[in-house]
Amino acid sequence: MALSPCPILINGDWSVPETAETSAVHNPSTGEVIAKVPMCGADVVDSAVAAATAAFEGWWQTPPVMRVRIMMRYCALLEENFEELAAMIVVEHGKTMTEARGDLRRGIEVAEYACGITDMLKGEVLENVAPGIDCSMVRQPIGVCVGICPYNFPALVPMWMYPMALACGNCFILKPSEKVPLTGIRLIELLEEAGLPPGVFSVVHGGKECVDALLEHPDVAAISFVGSSPVAEYIHKTGTAHGKRVQAAGGAKNFVVVMPDADFGKAVEGLTDAAFGCSGQRCMAGSTAVTVGEASERFIPAIVDSASALKVGPTHLSPEAKLGGVITPQHRDRVSSLIQSAVDEGCDLLVDGRNAQVADYPDGFYLGASVVDKVKPGMTIFQEEVFGPVLNVMRMNDLDEALDLAGKVSFGNGACIYTQSGRLAREFRHRVKAGMIGINVGVPAPLAYFPFSGWDYSFFGDLHLQGRESVMFFTRAKVYTERWFAPGEGDVWHQD
Ligand code: NAD
Repeated sequence: MALSPCPILINGDWSVPETAETSAVHNPSTGEVIAKVPMCGADVVDSAVAAATAAFEGWWQTPPVMRVRIMMRYCALLEENFEELAAMIVVEHGKTMTEARGDLRRGIEVAEYACGITDMLKGEVLENVAPGIDCSMVRQPIGVCVGICPYNFPALVPMWMYPMALACGNCFILKPSEKVPLTGIRLIELLEEAGLPPGVFSVVHGGKECVDALLEHPDVAAISFVGSSPVAEYIHKTGTAHGKRVQAAGGAKNFVVVMPDADFGKAVEGLTDAAFGCSGQRCMAGSTAVTVGEASERFIPAIVDSASALKVGPTHLSPEAKLGGVITPQHRDRVSSLIQSAVDEGCDLLVDGRNAQVADYPDGFYLGASVVDKVKPGMTIFQEEVFGPVLNVMRMNDLDEALDLAGKVSFGNGACIYTQSGRLAREFRHRVKAGMIGINVGVPAPLAYFPFSGWDYSFFGDLHLQGRESVMFFTRAKVYTERWFAPGEGDVWHQD
């Protein structure tokens, strides 16, 4: 049966746009085409922005407490539909059911956090800035906000953006990744069911043409982007050139230092999840293990055993499968060629996950876990984000050398250390060049109430997603200076 293209949402109506071009969505574990995405252009974007602009006045005048009530109903609906949504993530992304539940749970936590917006939107007052004169500051929404998302967290990343944007009183246009549109569509169907008025939310689909139309539209106030660094940099440059606020989170290359005094059981368990969880398709993946001194003797054989034991298979059918397919065949081939570049540049390939086969699913985009030892600065695999189930291992003599390494990559998302020394952990967290730090934690992704604080080539903009920074991003300050006269009272105030 022919698949009809995924719908867009404009002004409360789901419809299929009349676009000739579509892009296929696959189940990465089987290779099967499960949906088609219409590649929208400027006409669709114009309609979505017009609907959002028209809805904005009514939505921001809606008292925050009433906006919160919709968000609370939304949280309840997300719980009711939790397993269905998680299963959808597994099918269109390929991650395991446990990982999909985590993807969704972390997203719901942002919606729960947004339910506290009444407190976060409160302003500031100073009475008597001069005799009889009061000054106060309120925060107001900025207008039509846009979210452009990557494929690797189909629920969490969109929810980093829209619950806070809406709770602050903005209208929102979501462009899910064209590789995983289904979860995003279902998330927004539930948002409508929770009672969001028509026009406040739009969903559009597409690639560069659609994104460019959003970046250039004069009635769009702000862009939230998450994706690869070259695109993040482009989005920031183009969006700000068109007068918009932009927060653009990019790629990563995260180090995990293993000290000789580490609890090796915990380090191996933590690194196995950090490097190979979600098939390495995480911006917080621990993609490089840095062993210090004799840590290499205990850590490397153990991580080799652990990586070799990870079962590859169809995650939507088999709970034992820890690695499903990666997102596309092109991505699988890119990861394989990066592994080959490491071999060609002199690394030891201790575990080779290329050519992983799953008997009943020859068309799945499978890659097993790989461990590449003796990686050196300057190698392609040292600098490039691999975004696959590949762990680099680098051997250093002391913590200073390990800290210097982090300074040699352009990214600055995460960095972790496994040690039992509080003094070394403190030195590491204080000095390391990255924005999210783990101490005996392999994936130090901040939760809803803290900013997702990437640095350097991992983030473009000033205000991050999540936490209070997102309230600042989705609102702007207005300051009132007030004086009330008694009949016939005094003249103009002059400050010394
Ligand atoms: P991507 O950059 O290819 O795509 C992201 C979005 O940008 C998609 O919606 C896509 O349609 C759009 N896009 C792609 N190319 C474009 C172009 N030339 N012009 C305009 N728009 C374009 O990223 P991806 O492959 O979907 O996701 C993986 C990347 O996302 C990784 O680099 C990963 O590290 C990053 N990521 C970062 C974070 C973070 O918080 N820093 C979180 C999740 C993912």
